[in-house]
Amino acid sequence: MSHPFKAILVSRGEDKKQSVAVTELSDADLMDGDVTVSVEATTVNYKDGLAITGRAPVIRRFPLVPGIDFAGTVLASSHADWTPGDKVILNGWGVGETHHGAFARRARVKGDWLVPLPDGMTAKQAMAVGTAGYTAMLCVMALERHGITPDRGPVVVTGAAGGVGSVATAVLSGLGYHVVASTGRPAEAGYLTDLGAREIIHRDELSGPAKPLGKERWAGAVDSVGSHTLANVLSMTSYGGAVAACGLAQGMDLPGSVAPFILRGVSLLGVDSVMAPKALRLEAWSRIGKDLDPGKLGALTTTIDFDGIVEAAHAIVDGRIRGRVVVDM
Ligand code: NDP
Repeated sequence: MSHPFKAILVSRGEDKKQSVAVTELSDADLMDGDVTVSVEATTVNYKDGLAITGRAPVIRRFPLVPGIDFAGTVLASSHADWTPGDKVILNGWGVGETHHGAFARRARVKGDWLVPLPDGMTAKQAMAVGTAGYTAMLCVMALERHGITPDRGPVVVTGAAGGVGSVATAVLSGLGYHVVASTGRPAEAGYLTDLGAREIIHRDELSGPAKPLGKERWAGAVDSVGSHTLANVLSMTSYGGAVAACGLAQGMDLPGSVAPFILRGVSLLGVDSVMAPKALRLEAWSRIGKDLDPGKLGALTTTIDFDGIVEAAHAIVDGRIRGRVVVDM
């Protein structure tokens, strides 16, 4: 277990500038944890893009191996729940932010952070879903808990051609929802229709300053965009509807009014994947196994190898990635 392995390492100089290098680490370089995992697949999420490009302060300890999620096989464990050979998934918990992450052939983490790979799913399929897809499922579950069933009316998905958006579109349409896909890439209309979207709208309809209330267009929403887009989505949500908000691709601000809340009883449901409790994670991964069509998952996935990670990180923050990127380690 002690032979060196390839890893991406982000460092910061005295001038506070970040640099990214491909290097070799050994087990002794890994951080504390009670389970060592052979990383078989990982993925490039939006947050990984921010971390590697340094466009947002995702990494809070240097030098650090980025990568917020992986799937792999347990190599060694002193944790009661895991034994060598177990297939596991990790999402979040500060991995790739304050703890060495997924962009290395091996990882050492806390056993409490891991969940089992669902039966019948490969490591690559799990990372095709990745944190973006697992978050999309958390959003769908939040809407369901709020009583937003398919008969209540359409559900809009913003950033639809992105990772969260693509998986949300596929899952919601599979569950029978009428999905309105909002995208800035009209050329991807066919892709989104194949995933199950019934209507495609241009994201420009939602990206300018919002009126307090607009025409009621949908009963629910999965929003990975934030800012004006989220404000517009809220203003166009019908009476008693709900919006699951998980992202900030347009911005972190929320320049809207309270009108949708106090005049239409609209609910804003916050969704966080990083610190989500284990029971919710297990439910989300089990639902992904049941409610995400593997054919659609294949259609929304591009596979790259380790050497493609840094380029993919730049591409995702530039909005050039369609669907999900899985890294075959
Ligand atoms: P992607 O880059 O794959 O998708 C984001 C999509 O948003 C783009 O594809 C694009 O969709 C749209 N978009 C990009 N820039 C803008 C803009 N300026 N205005 C309007 N729309 C824009 O990222 P992910 O799907 O992986 O992540 C989406 C968001 O969700 C990110 O902010 C990420 O940090 C967040 N996230 C949050 C999590 C949580 O725990 N809360 C977990 C996972 C992700 P299109 O081309 O179709 O218009």
